[in-house]
Amino acid sequence: MHPDRTPVMAGNWKLHKGIHDTGGYVRELVQALKERGDLGCEVIIAPVFTSLAVALQAVWGSPIKVAAQNCHWEETGAFTGEISAAMLKEVGVSHVILGHSERRQYFGETDATVNGRLKATLAQRMAPIFCIGETIDQRRAGETERVLERQLNDGLAGLGAEALSTLIVAYEPVWAIGTGEVATPEQAQAAHAYIRGWFSKAHGDGFANRVRLLYGGSAKPDNVKEILACPDVDGCLIGGASLTAESFLPMIDAAASR
Ligand code: PEP
Repeated sequence: MHPDRTPVMAGNWKLHKGIHDTGGYVRELVQALKERGDLGCEVIIAPVFTSLAVALQAVWGSPIKVAAQNCHWEETGAFTGEISAAMLKEVGVSHVILGHSERRQYFGETDATVNGRLKATLAQRMAPIFCIGETIDQRRAGETERVLERQLNDGLAGLGAEALSTLIVAYEPVWAIGTGEVATPEQAQAAHAYIRGWFSKAHGDGFANRVRLLYGGSAKPDNVKEILACPDVDGCLIGGASLTAESFLPMIDAAASR
């Protein structure tokens, strides 16, 4: 991690925790973070849509921010099952996860649809957590950088440095998500350095030095320190290990004590 970039530890709850479990868990996190005082680290949780209001109520007055796990590109209309950025803004959400590999893999998301969702998120002045990453076949074929380049070019198309000032990127190798197989620090650093280099070319060194790049993929309390030690890793997007205070808190502590 770089001392000039505030780390971000974000928990993606995926399809877990209804309103009952959310309230209890968030109150536990709020209390634990209160006891820690100033963390010097941003903490974000991303519950399911129906748990957002409960989570927002429980984090009130604490430094924890609440993210949604997706949003649609249109504000209203005939889009059964979708939720708009304006609706998320109305409920009080500050961040939106976009382009997660599970959305791309199981729900047909493409770079173009992610781009539309990203623009809608930014138009509502919420911060996108934009996920990119290669599959195992793409890595084995030596295509990692080409895939990241395409996802960055197409996912961020039409958006300049000013529009993207709140952007957070999560590099999540698909083969490491939920599999227990974590990228080595060398693999994570190489991908993050490539992504930062892309921003440098696209939006200049100033932007590239400011943008926060998170690692995601089986990050756990016992491997997080070495991942966070990579100079271009500014935090983590955490799935499974963000679901209990027992595993999420030590990971937050690891980022806070960098
Ligand atoms: C994720 O869902 O973004 C993720 C990284 O999951 P996990 O930590 O469980 O691999």
